[in-house]
Amino acid sequence: MFEKILIANRGEIALRIQRACREMGIKTVAVHSEADANAKYVKLADESVCIGPAPSAQSYLNIPAIISAAEVTDAEAIHPGYGFLSENADFAERVESSGFVFIGPRPETIRMMGDKVSAKNAMKKAGVPCVPGSNGALPESLDEVRGVIRAVGYPVIIKASAGGGGRGMRVVHTEAALSNAVIITRNEAQAAFGNPTVYAEKFLENPRHIEFQVLVDEHRNAIHLGERECSMQRRHQKILEEAPALGISPRLRDRIGGRCADACRRIGYRGVGTFEFLFEKNEFYFIEMNTRLQVEHPVTEAITGIDLVKAQIRVAAGEKLSIRQRDVSWKGHAIECRINAEDPYKLTPSAGRITQYHAPGGPGIRVDSHIYHNYMVPPYYDSMIAKVIAYGDNRDQAIARMRIALSEMVVEGISTNIPLHLDLLSDAAFLTGGTSIHYLEQKLANYN
Ligand code: ADP
Repeated sequence: MFEKILIANRGEIALRIQRACREMGIKTVAVHSEADANAKYVKLADESVCIGPAPSAQSYLNIPAIISAAEVTDAEAIHPGYGFLSENADFAERVESSGFVFIGPRPETIRMMGDKVSAKNAMKKAGVPCVPGSNGALPESLDEVRGVIRAVGYPVIIKASAGGGGRGMRVVHTEAALSNAVIITRNEAQAAFGNPTVYAEKFLENPRHIEFQVLVDEHRNAIHLGERECSMQRRHQKILEEAPALGISPRLRDRIGGRCADACRRIGYRGVGTFEFLFEKNEFYFIEMNTRLQVEHPVTEAITGIDLVKAQIRVAAGEKLSIRQRDVSWKGHAIECRINAEDPYKLTPSAGRITQYHAPGGPGIRVDSHIYHNYMVPPYYDSMIAKVIAYGDNRDQAIARMRIALSEMVVEGISTNIPLHLDLLSDAAFLTGGTSIHYLEQKLANYN
């Protein structure tokens, strides 16, 4: 096992990884920007290294600074967390060529999955069901594009192959709008991702977003840990997740999860990963794979009893999985609410000092957060300041516990989206369950 791991991230996930390391007796190195120098989790780490000024481009995305920090502290492995450099194949390559272990998949795998056209091709070959569409990149000629899209049928969604974070996508309902949409998306893709390749998918009108968690060692042992429901989204950002997803039968779970695990063996995957699907009319359609730990991993941990970060570190150290698929079982229900420092309805970020903080607790409540009384939320990074996870024997109990937890939670001095979550937790459609990815936006549109 590693003796020392460098955590190339910040905020709650840096603390989450640090806790797993401490439990495993592994020393930690926190790297931080100048804006995060005084954060408590930085002080709690065994060592810390400042890697640059506040803007991410000069700190958390500064590859040479992170590699030097690993060198001067004699770390053996680097955990990238999520966001920042976690899905950057060049970073993974630099980590490995500098003699450290990258806690994640091989750089080639990250590269393949980061290109959605090649990811979909690989998944199709592996027998994972995909959204029907252009079968690869759209041709150069707009005449040919029209022919391809006619065969798919309208509406379609034009997507950048190198896209991410909900950017570089455009829905097209009619042939009249097609050429323009393709040209604009190509230009945007070139500007934002340096790659103009676009492809098309059938646009599903009312899908749910359901994703499968996988865990794979270097010895081709691959298991799936079931699914998570992530349909509560705003601007393509998830805000509340749960596991299991309503209405997925054990047979369907085994079938789709089994396909994901098979695909991992086939492509030589290693580490933790997530297969994202759209789910409509009882069919799953793969959209993309995330080759890292997800924000919402705790809901899977809650219902499987598996610590995904510890498992991830173990497989990165070359250990074999200690469990097989038949050892995985799911019990109860878990919900996660992402607490963001923002105006709950206008969505404007709300940085500043936290003048009062009271964390919730009680049976079945887990809070993953780096904040504390008097903490200064810096304006430079993602607005998520905490994740509250509620576990219950069933969905009703998990919801009730979450409602109590969020009504107890006090965060003053800044605005948070707790009121929005409380509103959702008593929303009739949410309580029934199974709402589509458009539900939250539609509900909020009614307020204005
Ligand atoms: P990103 O990598 O930018 O997150 P995804 O391919 O995962 O892009 O898609 C993000 C979101 O866009 C999905 O969660 C869904 O809300 C919507 N979306 C993507 N593809 C389709 C599709 N074929 N039909 C309907 N909605 C889609």
